[in-house]
Amino acid sequence: MNNILKYTNKQLQDLLAENNFKKFNADQIFEWIYLKNELDFQKMTNLSLELRKFLNENFNSQLLEELVCQESNDGTVKFLFKLCDNRSIETVLMPQSYGQSVCVTTQVGCNMGCTFCASGIIKKIRNLDVDEIVAQVYYVNRYLKNKYPNDTTGKNRVSHIVVMGIGEPLDNYENTLNFINILNSPKGFGIGARHITVSTCGLVPKIKAFADLQLQANLAISLHAPNDEIRNQIMPINKAFPLVKLMEAVDYYIAKTNRRITFEYILIDKVNDSVESAHQLAALIKGKNAYVNLIPYNEVHENPFRKSTNIDNFFKALKSKKINCIVRKEFGADIDAACGQLRAIREGILK
Ligand code: SAH
Repeated sequence: MNNILKYTNKQLQDLLAENNFKKFNADQIFEWIYLKNELDFQKMTNLSLELRKFLNENFNSQLLEELVCQESNDGTVKFLFKLCDNRSIETVLMPQSYGQSVCVTTQVGCNMGCTFCASGIIKKIRNLDVDEIVAQVYYVNRYLKNKYPNDTTGKNRVSHIVVMGIGEPLDNYENTLNFINILNSPKGFGIGARHITVSTCGLVPKIKAFADLQLQANLAISLHAPNDEIRNQIMPINKAFPLVKLMEAVDYYIAKTNRRITFEYILIDKVNDSVESAHQLAALIKGKNAYVNLIPYNEVHENPFRKSTNIDNFFKALKSKKINCIVRKEFGADIDAACGQLRAIREGILK
């Protein structure tokens, strides 16, 4: 039985029309699910009894099962969810000054093999289906509604999405796009594309395809190195798509969408954090409509990498070359918030 959260509004319209219902029923169903938080088809009282029966017989509206919910002192909340095949995934809520941001997972495990990342400790087992990605946001939305029942400031709903959890979203391309479509739908979550950020390690053909769609979503590139030598050591994807190809795709994206791109750059002790690396990075991205998010490395005990002690100097060196950059705030340092850490710990892979 298919989960109703899998369908974009258009897909649901087509499906209803094929079964002799009205296309506008899709809007009604979306409103019940996403605006009124009602998942029980029987309670969707403006639908005909016949349609409710059809929904009951053909769909379920199951959410994910919460295994762990860790709240950090800084407000970050990390959820570990169980999927129907007993696999687990994680989702992080990060309260920000501008709204409630949720970091979603797109795959069970990850095949990109970045050596510094805890997610890759578990190889990709499968892609998440659309409903499993949607359900993460749905769940956190409901959590916020319960936590702030009388709120009028917007704290009680998810307003921003970062697709930066476990997995490579562009390696689960169609499902990620349908997820974005459901987020965007005015009858769905109503989250504007500009409030959605997709992060990729650099799958060049998919970056170009994504650019061609001309969505207003933000694209973040996990760059993490200023040259091929360093990038090859820490990100195997660079062997397939070296920097010259990646930068060509970045230029293509900027030209097609007229959007500013974000480069993420984790600062790892003695790997990529020298002033010389900063100068190389500046030369690599000079003149592009882009800015750099410098990220203090979140240590994973099982690997040899350590957090940089040269963050200030790196930042100043980039600034001196007139590169737009910020040092990203760290979240949930007290609750295993590094990518993949919670799940890896639960599955006994990390201490
Ligand atoms: N596969 C996508 C999205 C998932 S990772 C990508 O590579 O962009 C999200 C971001 O967290 C990436 O920039 C990733 O490199 C970074 N990251 C992974 N492990 C980290 C760690 N231990 N500390 C800080 N950032 C980390």
